[in-house]
Amino acid sequence: MFNLTQDVFTGIIFFIILNFFAMKKVVIIGAGLAGLATSALLGKKGYSVTVIEKNEQPGGRARKELDNSFLYDIGPSWYMMPEVFDRYFELFGKKTSDFYKLIRLDPSYRIFFSDSEFYDIRARVEDNKDVFNKLEKDGYNKFLKYLEKSKFIYESSLEHLVYKDYDDLGDILDPKILAIVPKLSLLSTVHKEVSRYVEDPRLQKLLEFTTVFLGASPYEASGLYSLISHADFNLGIWYPDGGIWKVADALYRLAQDNNVEFRFNEPVTAISVSNGSAVSVKTDQDSYDADIVVSGADYPHTELDLLPEVYRTYGKKYWEKRKLSPSCFNIFLGVGKKIEKLRHHNLYLDPNWDQHFADVRDNPRWPDNPSYYVCATSKTDKTVAPDGCENLFFLVPVAPGLDDTDEVRDHMYQRTIAHFEELVGQKVSDSIRSKMIFAQREFRSYYNSYKGTAFGLAHTLLQTAIFRPRVKSKKVKNLYYTGQFTQPGVGMPIALISAEIVANKILKEQK
Ligand SMILES: Cc1cc2nc3c(=O)[nH]c(=O)nc-3n(C[C@H](O)[C@H](O)[C@H](O)COP(=O)(O)OP(=O)(O)OC[C@H]3O[C@@H](n4cnc5c(N)ncnc54)[C@H](O)[C@@H]3O)c2cc1C
Repeated sequence: MFNLTQDVFTGIIFFIILNFFAMKKVVIIGAGLAGLATSALLGKKGYSVTVIEKNEQPGGRARKELDNSFLYDIGPSWYMMPEVFDRYFELFGKKTSDFYKLIRLDPSYRIFFSDSEFYDIRARVEDNKDVFNKLEKDGYNKFLKYLEKSKFIYESSLEHLVYKDYDDLGDILDPKILAIVPKLSLLSTVHKEVSRYVEDPRLQKLLEFTTVFLGASPYEASGLYSLISHADFNLGIWYPDGGIWKVADALYRLAQDNNVEFRFNEPVTAISVSNGSAVSVKTDQDSYDADIVVSGADYPHTELDLLPEVYRTYGKKYWEKRKLSPSCFNIFLGVGKKIEKLRHHNLYLDPNWDQHFADVRDNPRWPDNPSYYVCATSKTDKTVAPDGCENLFFLVPVAPGLDDTDEVRDHMYQRTIAHFEELVGQKVSDSIRSKMIFAQREFRSYYNSYKGTAFGLAHTLLQTAIFRPRVKSKKVKNLYYTGQFTQPGVGMPIALISAEIVANKILKEQK
């Protein structure tokens, strides 16, 4: 009896030791949302995972920064598609509320067409009836029809299209996909779709501005992306109490709970490849052996800067021909007063918005009369600014690859603040307590962003699904990609979907 127990015990120890040595080593480059989310999924499945991040904190473009008692979310500020976050956390037997408390914003946002014409878009669809009918005769009913179509596209896409890795043509020849594709307005554009339902240019802008979140203009984004109106109006705009950075913090904690190791302040300098397999990841401090490498850093940076030329799936010419999403000119301003006319999310949509889009995509230049976005999380959250103050975040979409000189930055800053002061009828320049600018230079230096793009690849039809850069390298058999340059695309919830796609692919291929 004693011997039997001892044998079983020895067997278990042997099994554990064997398993320990058999555990595959995964090295993930970048602790952005996609890298973090992938690391937790693979850690849970028993891989030995190390995440290497060049900056000092997790979150990537969704970082936070504290300056003179003002707390800023440096990148994303709109929490949309909450069910995608719920689904991700459920994979770990958790709820979103185990990590942060979500607040539904109402109004969802305020739209300014001028200093005297502005509208609150309310959380309940029916509460917007008066606004839509004021903007266009019978505008509300027309909008409801558009919203019905948007809901159909959203639900069909989430069910059949989005959680896929699109490795080969077979992935789109799936009969379920072929059956719905003709109904998804793929060959149309968001602007054409919206114009089918409403005529008033203000109402059109109100339904189209969200495509900028997808890194494209409504004139180039495939009609498929009109799905975002369902996310906006039906699923709602939310805020994690404390700040958007709570999302990165949740993923970071989840990864640690699943035994993921982290190295911060350690830029990756190279991926070493031998006989078509990645064997290690180099930093200037160390070298990490790897059985599998996943890059969550910007795809062009990984391919052009970290891999030997012969192992690039997509070379310089490929990237030069891609349509990039805009970059941004961002201003973070802590002001020592309340700005009465602002809500949590605010958009100024200039009458000249066509010219602004032309400046971003057709003839890249710094815009003269841009539309812009202002976020004031201090309207909802007492912890992000001192009493009686606001933490303002201005985002002006601009073309990527522009010359970001001191003179241009100063001009853009002065122009934006002067316009804003007129818009809200209050001075801010006399009470600034904290000021930071984050533009192309910072996108490049912080994230190794290609041409300073903020959101990666634009969501045009020819950069969607099968036409987007692949999740897996074609030249290096154990190198994978996640994040906003690959499947399915841009945005926080999309980063979680991207993580699930790549983790499932690795589980299937690299047991
Ligand atoms: C200004 C702005 C506003 C946005 N607004 C919204 C919004 O409101 N709602 C929304 O859903 N989405 C929004 N987005 C988009 C969303 O933030 C991104 O799509 C998402 O965060 C991208 O995550 P990622 O993991 O793909 O990339 P990233 O966050 O860029 O992560 C990549 C990581 O790799 C690291 N890295 C790069 N090179 C190296 C290297 N050589 N070695 C080690 N590490 C490296 C970077 O430092 C970074 O941490 C916004 C983005 C920006 C920039």
